[in-house]
Amino acid sequence: MSDVPARISVREVGPRDGLQNEDPVPAAAKIALIGSLARTGVRRIEAVSFVRPEAIPQMADADEVWAGVQPDPAIRYSALAPNLRGARRALDAGFTEIEVVVSASDTHNRKNVNRSTEESLDDIARIIDEAHQRDVACQVIVSTAWGCPYEGDVPVSRVVAVAGRAVADGADSVSFGDTTGMATPRRVAELVGAFRSAHPDVPLNLHFHNTRGTGLANVLAALELGVDDFDASVGGLGGCPYAPGATGNIATEELVHMVADMGVSTGVDLDAMIGAAAEAERIVGRTLPSQVLRAGPRTRTIPG
Ligand code: ZN
Repeated sequence: MSDVPARISVREVGPRDGLQNEDPVPAAAKIALIGSLARTGVRRIEAVSFVRPEAIPQMADADEVWAGVQPDPAIRYSALAPNLRGARRALDAGFTEIEVVVSASDTHNRKNVNRSTEESLDDIARIIDEAHQRDVACQVIVSTAWGCPYEGDVPVSRVVAVAGRAVADGADSVSFGDTTGMATPRRVAELVGAFRSAHPDVPLNLHFHNTRGTGLANVLAALELGVDDFDASVGGLGGCPYAPGATGNIATEELVHMVADMGVSTGVDLDAMIGAAAEAERIVGRTLPSQVLRAGPRTRTIPG
């Protein structure tokens, strides 16, 4: 395990990716949750997405939510934008980091945004240019990186080629998203190895889902390859859009809990994150999948 980093960067995606896949909740609850997360020590928060309200009503209040957040200067907040119009809204709202998304699977991309992967990459090149003109960093998220709900497995060469096009167009970093929860440790090693060989210097984030119970195993496989940047969602907020009732994002407190015992620092206070997970559970009014939220940390004892 010699390549395991001493420190990793955790991006908390619960307020956006998580809540986007739950029943709509009031803006005030989102603002409060972002505030609670800011007090956990996490240094990156994906706050909102700028999408058409008809497409994703859960994010219709993005401007209101962001206006209500008191930004902590120690935290990097980001917004997701599905297209140029959304990106301009994010830039106008003052975000200094934006994320754009393209699917490695042509069928998935067409179903999502009615464009081919190639056409989306053309749009993304323009978004990157506009972001850079305003000194804003742009991450390109390659979704369905470990499999598509329509096409099944997506070849590693295809995923790396899509990411490579984004890198060539100026992406500041790349994220691979396991949209469907089809990643396994072996497949993580294959994709990370192929991407690193092609682009050794490009910052890489990984976004795992625990849909089939391999979420943290995938993180461990990536850690052993030196990956030091992961997404996670407080409480495991957010479901899987392709399997009703199934689990989506890995839970932030489970990630922090596991790596802390490996001596890997995150800067996140575990108890504070568990508290934020309990708040997230109250907000959405359903039991969240996080097992560390249920059981508490491994060091917790009961009075003998
Ligand atoms: Zn996700």
